[in-house]
Amino acid sequence: MFRIHNTMTRRKEEFQPLHEGLVTLYSCGPTVYDFPHIGNLRTFLWSDLLVRALRRRGFEVHNVMNVTDVDDKTIAGAEREGMSLGEYTAKYADYFFEDLETLRIQPAWKYPRATEHIGQMLDVIRTLVDKGHAYEQDGSVYFDISSYPNYGRLSGVVPDEHTSREFGRLDSDEYELEDARDFALWKAAGPGEPSWDSPWGPGRPGWHIECTAMAIEYLGETIDMHLGGVDLVFPHHENEIAQSEAATGTQFVRFWIHPEHLIVEGEKMSKSKGNFYTLRDLLERGYDPVAVRHLLMTAHYRKQLNFTLDGLEQSRQALARLWDFADRVAEVPEDAEGVDLSAQVHAALTKFDAGLDDDLNIPGAMAAVFELVRGVNPLLSEARVGAEGRQVLDFLADADTVLGIIDHEKGSVDAEVDALMAEREAARGDKDWARADEIRDELLAQGIVIEDTPTGPRWRRGEWGVSEPHVVRSDACSHASAVVVAGVQATHGQECPCH
Ligand code: AMP
Ligand code: ZN
Repeated sequence: MFRIHNTMTRRKEEFQPLHEGLVTLYSCGPTVYDFPHIGNLRTFLWSDLLVRALRRRGFEVHNVMNVTDVDDKTIAGAEREGMSLGEYTAKYADYFFEDLETLRIQPAWKYPRATEHIGQMLDVIRTLVDKGHAYEQDGSVYFDISSYPNYGRLSGVVPDEHTSREFGRLDSDEYELEDARDFALWKAAGPGEPSWDSPWGPGRPGWHIECTAMAIEYLGETIDMHLGGVDLVFPHHENEIAQSEAATGTQFVRFWIHPEHLIVEGEKMSKSKGNFYTLRDLLERGYDPVAVRHLLMTAHYRKQLNFTLDGLEQSRQALARLWDFADRVAEVPEDAEGVDLSAQVHAALTKFDAGLDDDLNIPGAMAAVFELVRGVNPLLSEARVGAEGRQVLDFLADADTVLGIIDHEKGSVDAEVDALMAEREAARGDKDWARADEIRDELLAQGIVIEDTPTGPRWRRGEWGVSEPHVVRSDACSHASAVVVAGVQATHGQECPCH
C-alpha cells in the first residue's frame, strides 16, 4: 500500500490511481531563462524518485513536465542577450536536459513547451470567459476569483477580502498570499514583446494557464498527482486549481505533492539571493554527479535539506563504500561456499519497501541498503560470503531501479584511491605534510589503510564494516541507525531516517 502526503488534505493518504494500473503525474518544470540551480534540480529529482517508486510498484506512469519558454524572465533575458526568444530558451532548455541526464533523472513521458500550446491555452481562456469566470480588460484577460468559491483551499488564503473586482487585478505571475486578487490569464502585448493573436488582440499567456492547458491536454481533466516545489502552492497551484475546475467543472488534481526547499545556511537557495550552486559549478570542483544525487535525497522530501560541500564530500565517501562493497561481492567466485544471507537480504528488502511506501521515505529506504552493507562487510572480509552473495547483488540492483546511485563503473573506487595515493606522494615530495596527512585520514575514513613498504607506499582495505572510525552519533536521535544517515555521518542537520 503506497501512502503519500496530500497538501490539499494535509494528511498522508493511501494512493490508488483513478484508472487501474496507470498513474497520471504532472510536475511543474523549469523556466528556461538560466541554468537550473541544485535546489531546482532537487525538486526535479523528487519527481524522478516518485515516478521510479511508482513504476517499481507495478504502475505505468504517464509523467509530464512542462518547459516554460515564455514569461517575463525569458523575454527579458532574450532581450538582454540580443537573441530571439526561441534561440534563447532553446539554449537553456538544452542545459536543463543535460543536467537531468547527468543526475540520472529518467526522461519524463512528455516535456511540452508553453509556446507550442498557445492554442490549447486560448481554448481554456475562451471557455472561462464564456462561463463568466474571466473578463477582458484593456486587451488582457483576468480570472475572476470571486466566481470560484473554493479559491484558497490549497494554500489557506482567506478569499473574502480579495474577491471583489474593485480590489484590483494582478498582471504579475508571482505575488504574495496577502496580494491575492484577480490574476492574468492572458497579457496584452507590451511594445516589442513576442506575441500571439487572440480574440482580445495580440498578447501572451500568463504562467498559471500554461500548466492547466498542458496538463489537461496530455493527462485529462482529472489527474492523479501534481508535483512542484513548496513555493508553488501559492499562487501558482491555487490558480491552476481555480482555472481548471472552473473550466471543466470537475476535480483537477487528486494528490498535491510539494517537496521542500534546498537551503543554504537557513535561507532558500535562489538566484535572487545569490546563494546558489549549479550542477556545473560542482562538477567543475571535481564532485561526482552521483554524489550530488545522493546528497539531494538524504533528507525526506517534506524536509528542507541544508546544502554544504562537507555534506557532498560525505556523500562521495558513502558512495565509494557502497561501490567498493558491490565490486567485492561481485568478485566472489560463483562456486565459493558461504553463510546463508537470506534473512539479512529479506530484512533489508522489507525495510526498503516500507520506506518507499511510507510517503516516499527515500532516506529510510537508503538506510536499509547501507545497513545491509554494514552487516555483510565483515563477512566479506572474513571470506564467508559465497554464491549467496548473488542475492545481495540482486537486491542492490532492485533498490537501484529507484535510487539510481549504485550502478557504477567497476573499479572506479580503486581508480579514485590510486589518484589520492598519487596526490599524497606528490604532497610528500613537496614536504606538504599537512596535505599528505589529510589524504591519509580521508582514505582511512573509507576504510583504506596505507602501508609504507620498501617498494613504496601501498594500500589495502581495512575492515571498516566492523567499526567505522569516522562515524559519530547524532545527538538528535537515539536510534542506532541515526549513526549513519544513508551511509553519511549524521552531522549536518539531517534527521534520522527512521522518523
Ligand atoms: P523555476 O525554474 O524557478 O520555475 O523553478 C523550478 C522548480 O524548482 C519549481 O518546482 C520550484 O518550486 C523549485 N525550486 C525553486 N527553488 C528551490 C529550492 N531552493 N529548493 C528546491 N526547489 C526549488
Ligand atoms: Zn506549473
